[in-house]
Amino acid sequence: MAADSIDVFWHPGVLEHDTGSGVFDAPPSPLMAVNEPHPENADRVRNIHAVLDRGPLKDRIRWHEGRRATIAELMGFHKKAYIEAIREADESGGRRVTATTVVAPGSFRAGLAAAGTALAAMAHLMDGKGRIAYALVRPPGHHAAPEVADGYCFFNNTALAAQLALDRGVHRVAVIDWDVHHGNGTQEGFYQRDDVLTVSLHMDHGPWGPSHPQTGGADEVGRGRGKGFNLNVPLPMGTGDEGYDLAMGELVVPAVDAFRPGMLIVAAGQDASQFDPNGRQLLTMAGFRRLGRHARVLADRHSDGRLLLIQEGGYELTYTALCMHATLEGVLGAAPRIEDPLAFLPDDPAPARAAIEAVRKTWREACAAPGEAGRGEGPPPPVSERKGPRG
Ligand SMILES: [Zn+2]
Repeated sequence: MAADSIDVFWHPGVLEHDTGSGVFDAPPSPLMAVNEPHPENADRVRNIHAVLDRGPLKDRIRWHEGRRATIAELMGFHKKAYIEAIREADESGGRRVTATTVVAPGSFRAGLAAAGTALAAMAHLMDGKGRIAYALVRPPGHHAAPEVADGYCFFNNTALAAQLALDRGVHRVAVIDWDVHHGNGTQEGFYQRDDVLTVSLHMDHGPWGPSHPQTGGADEVGRGRGKGFNLNVPLPMGTGDEGYDLAMGELVVPAVDAFRPGMLIVAAGQDASQFDPNGRQLLTMAGFRRLGRHARVLADRHSDGRLLLIQEGGYELTYTALCMHATLEGVLGAAPRIEDPLAFLPDDPAPARAAIEAVRKTWREACAAPGEAGRGEGPPPPVSERKGPRG
């Protein structure tokens, strides 16, 4: 129960999802002599598991066995026909369900292990057995919408955990997604809801095809009762530690403060790191430490310290693990004890400052725009007015 430790939930079944190899996340090419592992592979989470098990935080980590979700539990967010389609893809020998999303024999059960382990971590917090938990799972989930697979994801672990908290009596759940990509599936599932605040900080990458029609723009603020309860913070390529810290402090923290969540979930990817093959942001271990600190402060302020981190993306095998370790150092307020082997690129917050101003303006206008159905109670979470040089 001590708040100075972290309960990490893990299930070896998440290793059973074999995404194969090819040309990065595309199928093999006859033009290449050597194929490479699909970036979303089991080694990612093996390394995170190792650094937490062997590293300086090991005495502050309590390990817990996860479990597989039931179909009924998946239906907390996904439609039954969609779940069955993923199962059928697995049982019929496997296929790509999107251009980059592989479902192979065994993937369905691995997906159940990821979802069930995220749910077990949330249940642990709801039962009062701990305050800070981390679900170390794969495949990631935040691109998966109720009926659409996308971007390596087919079951949305983060959204399922959020729904469980609501089902267990929490009135308002906030999700902060700092994976480098837009958390479109989570956004989509809660877009018309005022009981889940969905926040996504991401590289400004826009939509990428039929599985990902959402833009991730700041004008996507929610619809109907949900208007004002989705905050997108697209950040320009090259945003680093200072820019992410500013975006958290100026946009995300005020929005969460206004929402007053009873539970805080972080969709924790590390693909905004300096060396990730799947992103072009420049966070270092120090930047992730600051993000972890922000999350902890918000949890202490609003949700009685209850904070669940759920693993999302992060594809550079070594740095992903080190950045997750740094994130948990930030959550714990622990001094950094692993030297950053890669922090040598420059950090320029100027483009992020401009982007933050643009988000503030677009957000305000989109929330004030007429034409949508009536909102839920209260005004939309105000975005901070601080440091706005041009209003
Ligand atoms: Zn990602």
